[in-house]
Amino acid sequence: MAETQTPVNALLVVDMQVDFITGSLAVPDGPSVIDPVKEIIKLPFHARYASKDWHPRGHISFASTHPGKALFELTTIHPPQHLAIANGQNAQWIAEHGLEQVLWPDHCIQGTLGAQLVDPLLEDQFDAIMLKGTDPGVESYSAFKDPWGLLISNLEGLLREKGVTDLYIVGVAGDYCVKESAIDAAKACAWKTWVVREGVRSVSTEGKEWDILKSAGVGIIDTISELKARLGV
Ligand SMILES: [Zn+2]
Repeated sequence: MAETQTPVNALLVVDMQVDFITGSLAVPDGPSVIDPVKEIIKLPFHARYASKDWHPRGHISFASTHPGKALFELTTIHPPQHLAIANGQNAQWIAEHGLEQVLWPDHCIQGTLGAQLVDPLLEDQFDAIMLKGTDPGVESYSAFKDPWGLLISNLEGLLREKGVTDLYIVGVAGDYCVKESAIDAAKACAWKTWVVREGVRSVSTEGKEWDILKSAGVGIIDTISELKARLGV
């Protein structure tokens, strides 16, 4: 990619939904991220995308789906057989691809208030919205794909089609869906991936995600001012 290439800047706003901001799985200090994200959305991006966690009732990631398990307990989940087989995999592959899953409170159930974007005004700000975690048996933190690669969104295709050179990511939660989306974005090797800290809140306040993101080749932008400078506004 030549240094002189004109930047094509895109924004990804991750999971700014009621349940993650004020609802059943709210991040600490959630409401404080609303204004920064709204300010960032107004900046002159060439395209804006969003993701929504969009679960059916009884989703595999809900503690309530696993009798005898407690909230936030870890369990192992395996790829659903029908999707694995449709992707050309077999029983051995399913057995070998167990993943550690945190069991969350019920959240972002399709069609409920908790699944709505935290500000209804946000709904018409995006060129496209990626829905994730829509299969009862598949968890997906990333807006690009689930960890088994069974359900892939069209986000990468949309970004490539636009010729995006720089993808900026904000939203919640920094240590889950923002982190996994940013890592997948960086893996695409098609644009530079940035996370804007001022527009992110995390479940844990330890901040471990920032070093992980840097190691994955994601650029960290601390403030909106710094972002504006990069965008030339
Ligand atoms: Zn979820």
